[in-house]
Amino acid sequence: MSGGPYSPDEFAGAPIESSADFAAVPDAFQRLWTPHRMVYIETGGQPEECPFCIAPTKSDEEALIVARGEHAYVLLNLFPYNSGHLLVCPYRHVPLYDEATAEEIDEIARLTQTAMRVLRTVAGTDGFNIGMNQGRIAGAGIAAHLHQHVVPRWATDANFFPIIAGTKALPQLLGDVRASLAAGWPGVD
Ligand SMILES: [Zn+2]
Repeated sequence: MSGGPYSPDEFAGAPIESSADFAAVPDAFQRLWTPHRMVYIETGGQPEECPFCIAPTKSDEEALIVARGEHAYVLLNLFPYNSGHLLVCPYRHVPLYDEATAEEIDEIARLTQTAMRVLRTVAGTDGFNIGMNQGRIAGAGIAAHLHQHVVPRWATDANFFPIIAGTKALPQLLGDVRASLAAGWPGVD
């Protein structure tokens, strides 16, 4: 190959082979066709509108909201690691923990505590993973809007099988999970 820019003339006189002759020739690679990924790539991986800003404008049932506070609210993760995987978000569209106000931090913390108690009472949760991914590079799916994960864990849950197999068995529908957690949530304090 020349180092210069591509020119069709470079290939003048080269033998032409039908691609059909290659179609069944195996190589070392498996191919997973993922055209749906193109939408993700073309939009920069972010939905056009922020789902954590839109959710509070909808009904609890539609947005899978479990509880609403004054500065923050709790909703089910649409893509749960486990049944009852909750997200605690400020209403304000702010990306980073150190940009949240003292009032937001305080309510996110208290809602997280309540989420633990409700999950323990309603679902017999044995343990929790709690945390925030800050920035896309750190794994935040919706990096632009702060959210704290509260992931319930059971001794008998699937552990890291989903990470290896890319598959998650979820025994409960999201609407049913929301209803049972909302019913177990204490009145606004
Ligand atoms: Zn937002």
